Amino acid sequence: PFVASIVPQAPEDPLFGLMAAYKADTSPQKVDLGIGAYRGDDAKPWVLPVVKKADDLIRSDPELNHEYAPIAGLAPLTSASQKLMLGGDSPAIKENRVTSLQTVSGTGAVHLGALFLSKFYRTVYPSTAIYVSNPTWANHAQIITNVHLPVATYPYWSPKTRGLDIDGMLSALESAPARSVILLHVCAHNPTGVDPTQEQWKQIAEVMKRKAHFPFFDCAYQGFASGDLARDAWAVRYFVDLGFELVIAQSFAKNFGLYGQRAGAFHYVSAPAAEAQDTTKRVASQLAILQRSEISNPPIYGARIVAKVLNDPGLFAEWEENLREMSGRIISMRNALRGKLEELGTPGTWNHVTDQIGMFSFTGLNEKQVGLLRSEAHIYMTKNGRISMAGLNTKNVEYVARAIDKVVR
Ligand code: PLP
Repeated sequence: PFVASIVPQAPEDPLFGLMAAYKADTSPQKVDLGIGAYRGDDAKPWVLPVVKKADDLIRSDPELNHEYAPIAGLAPLTSASQKLMLGGDSPAIKENRVTSLQTVSGTGAVHLGALFLSKFYRTVYPSTAIYVSNPTWANHAQIITNVHLPVATYPYWSPKTRGLDIDGMLSALESAPARSVILLHVCAHNPTGVDPTQEQWKQIAEVMKRKAHFPFFDCAYQGFASGDLARDAWAVRYFVDLGFELVIAQSFAKNFGLYGQRAGAFHYVSAPAAEAQDTTKRVASQLAILQRSEISNPPIYGARIVAKVLNDPGLFAEWEENLREMSGRIISMRNALRGKLEELGTPGTWNHVTDQIGMFSFTGLNEKQVGLLRSEAHIYMTKNGRISMAGLNTKNVEYVARAIDKVVR
């Protein structure tokens, strides 16, 4: 038989299906709370002014060409993104124990990390699984499974408190086999919007150190969560200070608004040791082979924009301003939504809307309520009750609050 004859129909990607349904809806009142991309108060995509400026500068260069990037990507991008992630004065950078590759955005970085671990970590620790939070970004499990690593989960969201289930998380880390790989969202956890506090991060690090677990950080929202780049990267820097060997997947999709440009980086950090420089070099050589065999070399355009901004102090300061605008608008929408719901006396508590951070909020709405919001009010969100705060604006927040109020009663 033809190969195709034994290929089963795959289910549609739920998020992309949701986008299509929203597009097809002709109601003028429709609201898209599914979208994982920033929107301005006018509900339109926003090109960051600093990105526009860097783009113009790059385009005006008469020497601009479209040659291949090196296998590891553009050096000005990888070196600046290391500093952005780990801090300019990071001991790991000074001691040459970080190696970085430019990747196909955050997804490509998660994939490269998983592929690397499946090839090398598993040979030493064959029973290793990658533990992901329950719930997590929908793509994590399939990226990990694609490279034939087992996926396990640790508790994260507590439906009762609509916050972090820290006890459940800590005890799962405690009972996982030693040297497990633990995938952690650095900030603005997707889909819940719930991040550990710094005190909780310290508890997480303590168990992980004792159990010799391997941290795999996914950082898709640095600067987008609090508006402060260092604060959003705090957890990674803390783990590096504790001397962990770890990896980081870094995306520039959200914090630069460069979604379709696929700009990102993967970082491997060796633990401090006399031979750390050598082991890091060896890791770099293997990562280069994995990269070469899969994509040869990464895409250049978005990376040029990011590199330009990160390496120019004036543009960098403007970028921080743009980040504060995005995160500030989102935080103000959290306050507005909670305020309206409380004003309406909507049953339940709504403090979690403002306690959570970043692009998403896990509202606690159930599948039936989500369905009603869609059929009755043309408001679109994922079935798990996750809303994208970026879809709210001063014109629709009251409409959304009233609709939520109606389905909750
Ligand atoms: N990781 C998390 C937790 C995400 O939410 C996302 C995007 O939604 C990504 C990684 C990767 O995004 P991209 O590949 O667009 O950089």
